[in-house]
Amino acid sequence: MAKFKVVVTDHVFPSREVETRLLVEGLGADVVFCPNAEETTLAQAVRDADAVLVTYARISGRVIDAMQKARIIARYGVGVDNIDLEAAARRGLWVTNVPDYCVEEVSDHALALILALARKVVFLDRRVRQGQWDYRDLTPIPRLAGKTLGLVGFGRIARATGRKARAFGMRILAYDPYVKEVAEEEAQLVGLPELLAASDFVSIHVPLLAETRHFIGANELAMMKPTACIVNTSRGGIIDEAALAEALREGRLAGAALDVVEQEPIPLDHPLIGQPNCILTPHVAFYSEESTIELQEKACRQVVKALTG
Ligand code: NAD
Repeated sequence: MAKFKVVVTDHVFPSREVETRLLVEGLGADVVFCPNAEETTLAQAVRDADAVLVTYARISGRVIDAMQKARIIARYGVGVDNIDLEAAARRGLWVTNVPDYCVEEVSDHALALILALARKVVFLDRRVRQGQWDYRDLTPIPRLAGKTLGLVGFGRIARATGRKARAFGMRILAYDPYVKEVAEEEAQLVGLPELLAASDFVSIHVPLLAETRHFIGANELAMMKPTACIVNTSRGGIIDEAALAEALREGRLAGAALDVVEQEPIPLDHPLIGQPNCILTPHVAFYSEESTIELQEKACRQVVKALTG
């Protein structure tokens, strides 16, 4: 009988090679894949598990209470908002994340969305396919160099986004109450109202916490210039989407690009779906061949360490 049982709740990666190499061959663990994220099924599957690896499935207090011998819940990803942390702490369980596997990918994606908004790439592509080989009726396309990018949150991904945006000649402002000092050439730290009022592009990079839910609501959107655009590659729920849709519809904001939304997948009757000045991608910013392998390796190594260290 295998010494350990590891439950992988929802596996979204193209290959299981990493789990096989590190957990099965390396640790001698019995790895059980449980793609059904329904609470009762999960609670049953994790009962005798030593470790649980999870991507998006909700690990509720009930699922955690069902664990009789687990030592670790390892998240394949950055945010741990799908895990009941209080319940895990009560049970003395380790909860780990992988904070740094996709900094390049998400900052590339934020830049791609900024460029797509600035150069109206998606909008123009749609028009060309409808037989419109023209651009003269568009509102002026801004020159990116010299424009201001406001970064809300100034952690790893925001810093990488800022570094890449500086290469395009953008000026960088940042708001992050937990960051006290920033090198002058990197960004200028300002208050949120100042950032919103001065930026041509606002890019969101804060985690989803109780204090950041609907952090950007009607009041904050009203502080932005009508020519400005907003980009969110962090978490849905940080922007109030009803307020955003209204601001876009009424021309109080020039554009938005969201990789993350409050309800994923976004319902097709969502007010943002009908907005031509809104670009949507399916929570893909983290994704590349290299980042997924790095993510799997780092999450599995945490499990190995918790069970053997
Ligand atoms: P990080 O922890 O390095 O940075 C987050 C920053 O937000 C920190 O500097 C923190 O001080 C700041 N912050 C916290 N509360 C704040 C507040 N109320 N106001 C302003 N700033 C605040 O995280 P990161 O690696 O840069 O990732 C940022 C977010 O991106 C993550 O929380 C995650 O949700 C998201 N993400 C999304 C994808 C994707 O595929 N779309 C992939 C990875 C990460």
